[in-house]
Amino acid sequence: MNKIIFIVFAATAFAQTPTINWDQQKAETLRHFRALVQIDTSNPPGNETRAVDYLKQVLEAEGIATKTFASEPSRANLVARLKGNGSKRPILLMAHTDVVGVQRAKWPVDPFGAVLKDGYVWGRGTSDDKDKLTADLMVMLLLKRSGVALDRDVIFLAEAGEETTSLGIDFMVNQHFSEIDAEFALNEGGRTRLENGRVTAVQIATAEKVPRWVRLVVDGTSGHGSIPRVDNASSPAMSVCYRVLRTRSPA
Ligand SMILES: [Zn+2]
Repeated sequence: MNKIIFIVFAATAFAQTPTINWDQQKAETLRHFRALVQIDTSNPPGNETRAVDYLKQVLEAEGIATKTFASEPSRANLVARLKGNGSKRPILLMAHTDVVGVQRAKWPVDPFGAVLKDGYVWGRGTSDDKDKLTADLMVMLLLKRSGVALDRDVIFLAEAGEETTSLGIDFMVNQHFSEIDAEFALNEGGRTRLENGRVTAVQIATAEKVPRWVRLVVDGTSGHGSIPRVDNASSPAMSVCYRVLRTRSPA
């Protein structure tokens, strides 16, 4: 369940600023958002090509050429590009098309119904990552329609396999990097806070979570597992792990 919020980053330098009536864009944005949620791309198996087919048809109907790249036919990635004047390096808008699997019995609604209920769109992928996918799609459509002159190419990448990167981003980087080579990339991360129907904060994450390896050395009296000792080294080790588990970083 996720309120639809679309934040369009003004990271692209415009030679002119187009006027966009955002109220008028709501219906179209919602239509694409719901259509994408209704495409079951649960991973596994993914079947992201279904979403790619939809995006391809929408983009090409606007005169935006697309290319697809797939290491497996059912798990395609899609790239589209709006050309700039080349004075700056491209910007990459990226979003993954697969979603986490569902346990249907636990859902009060069809997870792929994109049901509108209580002012929300309900469905798998509404906040990860079909909201971002739709926002990126709308940026491409609106930039194209407005005819705005771009200083840099704007590249749209719909990637397969968020976690199965060998089919998605790793495949694109290793096999087709020239298609997505950019100065900046905007991807998911950060959160938007909504209170009483109003956006009160937009957070921007500049990095992903990364492993932080720690070497822990503990001492204790040695013994055998069949006769557990309270002063065995494993006791303080477990205490340390428990404290780490209970630690909460400041909100
Ligand atoms: Zn995600």
